[in-house]
Amino acid sequence: MLDNKCVFCKILRGEIPSAKVYEDDEMLVFKDIEPKAKVHLLAVPKDHFKLLADMDETRAKVLSHMLAKIPQIAAQNGCTNGYRLVINQGDDAGQTVFHLHIHILGGENLPW
Ligand code: AMP
Ligand code: ZN
Repeated sequence: MLDNKCVFCKILRGEIPSAKVYEDDEMLVFKDIEPKAKVHLLAVPKDHFKLLADMDETRAKVLSHMLAKIPQIAAQNGCTNGYRLVINQGDDAGQTVFHLHIHILGGENLPW
């Protein structure tokens, strides 16, 4: 299910543009609009939910599929020497988009 107001659902519906790098039946990967590293991609499931705490068995399978695909997608987009995955969860993490997403950061030696 998608959400009418969610920016990532709008991207999934094609209502706003994004720089897509990978898509299949379960997920979309596109470039972050405000990159925090030389390579900064966002991997999103094609289902609107905010938190890992909202996961059920179906969503867990999608997440597992996403994690399995990410190494190849990262390598093909310039993360040839490692990368970092980040999933912000809720207010203390500064989550700003309430559609679960995996940040893929790399392409350079990352601080911290
Ligand atoms: P988070 O703080 O984990 O919720 O991350 C949300 C991310 O979405 C931020 O890094 C934003 O730069 C990114 N973002 C917000 N709107 C867009 C958009 N229209 N296209 C691409 N990335 C976006
Ligand atoms: Zn959404």
